[in-house]
Amino acid sequence: MTDAPAQPARWTAQWKELYSEVITTGLCTGCAGCVVTCPHDVIGYEHEEGKYIPFHLEEELGLDNCVHGEKGCTTCTRACPRFRAWEPSADMHLFGRQREPDEMAGIWQQLLLTRASDDMVHRMGQDGGLVSAMLIWLRDNDYIDAALVSGVEASACCVLRPSTTRSSPSSSRPSTASRSRTW
Ligand code: SF4
Ligand code: SF4
Repeated sequence: MTDAPAQPARWTAQWKELYSEVITTGLCTGCAGCVVTCPHDVIGYEHEEGKYIPFHLEEELGLDNCVHGEKGCTTCTRACPRFRAWEPSADMHLFGRQREPDEMAGIWQQLLLTRASDDMVHRMGQDGGLVSAMLIWLRDNDYIDAALVSGVEASACCVLRPSTTRSSPSSSRPSTASRSRTW
């Protein structure tokens, strides 16, 4: 009888680890990934020029720990692109090997420069409208009902907020394109 393959250790890293390994070490880029994905809305964000730093809003366990994290929430460390080395496991999952030193940008077969063929989508998109065009196609062809994207606050162009785009007969292309627009 052969032994069952070892199970990967359960991921338990939460705000406590994010705070000590990314935020206080200068690794944080201020991308706000942890902020928009936190399911309990307990991460605030400093929007001032030169800061762009997330901070914890609940003081129950101090600003360097999270009561929800202590109960098992790990969303922020999974969302953070600067938290530990996630590329090796992603590469193994997607390509069956890890990237070589000359593949800093990742493993790829083709490098394509693209833009949406629809002029309006192209104009509204952040970088040519490819993602908007794909979301519109997926929605129009009933592969998805909605998409979770990010938009900007009307009162502050630099403030990102999560948005959804939904399928509806009257939904127009500008809706999806404008809501998936970021800067
Ligand atoms: S551990 Fe969960 S609840 Fe706590 S800050 Fe991270 S994502 Fe939010
Ligand atoms: S997800 Fe990571 S890099 Fe982005 S703001 Fe949060 S801590 Fe910083």
